[in-house]
Amino acid sequence: MRILLPDDTALELPDGATGLDAAAAIGPRLAAATAAVKVNGELRDLRLPLADGDRLQVLRVGDDEALPVLRHSTAHVLAEAARHLFPGVKVAFGPPIDNGFYYDFEFPEPITDADLERLEAEMRRILAAGEWAFVRSEVPRAEARARFEAEGEVYKVEAIDRLPADVPISFYRQGDFVDLCRGPHLQTSKPIKAFRLQSLAGAYWLGDSSRPQLTRVYGTAFWKPADLEAHLHRIEEAKRRDHRRLGPELGLFTFSDVAAGTAFWLPNGTRIFNQLVGLSREMCDAHGYTEVKTPQLYDAELWKTSGHWFKYRDHMFVTEAEGRPMGLKPMNCPGHAQLFKLQRWSYRDLPQRYSEPGLLHRNELSGALHGLLRVRHFVQDDAHIFCTPEQALDEAKGCLDMAFETYAQFGIETTVELSTRPPERMGDDAQWDEAEALLARALDDKGLVYAVNEGDGAFYGPKIDLHMTDSLGRSWQLGTVQMDFQLPERFDLTYTGADNGEHRVVMLHRALFGSYERFIGILLEDTGGDLPLWLAPDQVLVLPIADRHESYVEEVVGRLRTAGLRARADLRGESVGKKIAEAESSKVPVMLVVGDREQETGQVSVRRHGRRDLGAHDLAGLIRDLRAEVGERRVPV
Ligand SMILES: [Zn+2]
Ligand SMILES: [Zn+2]
Repeated sequence: MRILLPDDTALELPDGATGLDAAAAIGPRLAAATAAVKVNGELRDLRLPLADGDRLQVLRVGDDEALPVLRHSTAHVLAEAARHLFPGVKVAFGPPIDNGFYYDFEFPEPITDADLERLEAEMRRILAAGEWAFVRSEVPRAEARARFEAEGEVYKVEAIDRLPADVPISFYRQGDFVDLCRGPHLQTSKPIKAFRLQSLAGAYWLGDSSRPQLTRVYGTAFWKPADLEAHLHRIEEAKRRDHRRLGPELGLFTFSDVAAGTAFWLPNGTRIFNQLVGLSREMCDAHGYTEVKTPQLYDAELWKTSGHWFKYRDHMFVTEAEGRPMGLKPMNCPGHAQLFKLQRWSYRDLPQRYSEPGLLHRNELSGALHGLLRVRHFVQDDAHIFCTPEQALDEAKGCLDMAFETYAQFGIETTVELSTRPPERMGDDAQWDEAEALLARALDDKGLVYAVNEGDGAFYGPKIDLHMTDSLGRSWQLGTVQMDFQLPERFDLTYTGADNGEHRVVMLHRALFGSYERFIGILLEDTGGDLPLWLAPDQVLVLPIADRHESYVEEVVGRLRTAGLRARADLRGESVGKKIAEAESSKVPVMLVVGDREQETGQVSVRRHGRRDLGAHDLAGLIRDLRAEVGERRVPV
């Protein structure tokens, strides 16, 4: 048979040859280094036979694409260690996952974090005792079943019973451990070196809460110790930057059970919030939007017209007044549509762009709430554009321009996705075709590279989603631009055209931060709380060296405030060293220290957060520089 290699050369092999045979035909060194193969683009075990015409890519030990194979093989060694340490343990499933692997067990007694260390030590002992081959075999179903039944491995027995009759039953053995497994696995245990067991969690068998609860052991493995260390460091760093921790630590916001899913904004957090709302207003002014205010609570009739009462009611907070059902708004769109409808419009009036920092409520399950990232109460930097069909393309492009201008203020790089029609949706296919094509055209015209996210659009229309990747490599969704032909139909929104006839408007929805709450959460996780000067709640802290400098400190603070900078004095009776250390940990961007010399010369000693002493500066010059930095919303590089 002929196998095709990635460079399009063909390899002649005898019938029944495996991926490993193919690697050996290329060279013995490659065969020794083979971790797995990709056949026609799919990761596969190197022991399986190839077929004539297959496209083959050999993955070596050390290849990123073969990491799941390393992790899966490490999970098997974990199961072997568990068998050694906990006689009577029952094993369930142990697959690789993003960034690691897990294995589910039913232990005879509950285990603790200390047992994780024992398990890891036993894994190391097993691996040090020899280079174990992973041996694959196919076994008749009845024989496989009998084997696990005899061992009391009830989960493996059930797993066999759940496999469709035409799926061959394969075993992988290493050392004294045999697992029912599809693979793929490494050739031997030799490359398993850099691994770590990380945590324990409960997990129901088959994810079914009516079935036994098992213990899930999470771990990870990498080809190189340095990669493992870097990964563990990233996890630590993510914990340190967790916005749920930074919020209270920096005095920004806090949460209470009396209002689950809703932040209490402290003064410093409120300042950040207001800065972002201010930025949005400024951008909206520049881009021809007008701000509006619409009601919070609406009669159910409005939600029936919009369709939310049928498609979105589970996520709404519903109440009643004088016997009439009412709903708190989960989105601003129906309110804006209603507002638009209250007036008659000519084509000359369009587009109309309504913006509103709208307070929204969504009834999220308490288990799904997560700090500021998943809340029940939030403010969206929302806007809706009502335009003619001819204007829709330019309006979509205008939204993209505004999005990129906004993100640039934070030094954020974005990636773009086009989300298309979901299975459950309003409107006919012709409308969806048109709306999807229009958004795609806007992206193409802007020269943007984008991925298509099939089926992930809103129920009323397709959308462009804008994502950022943060400093730890995590992806977050930020803004969205959505095209909507449905709400204008449902609300019967029209304008009078040049032909004097009534025409249907097109509606665009857009939010760039998403919600202010969520954006602040992401910003904190990205920066670890080191906000740019323009956004920092306290911009400048002024510290006297001794009591006799207090009046000069007050004078400096006064001049900073007059210049529009958020400044305060720290006049507590603590040492200057301690005050500086505290200011560093509260991440105030600028510290000014004043003593005799500064007082005499009208200067200040400047320290920038995270940098060292920048020396004495003339106060007037410094104020000019800081104002420029704030005015340009400069991002530290
Ligand atoms: Zn397995
Ligand atoms: Zn909307």
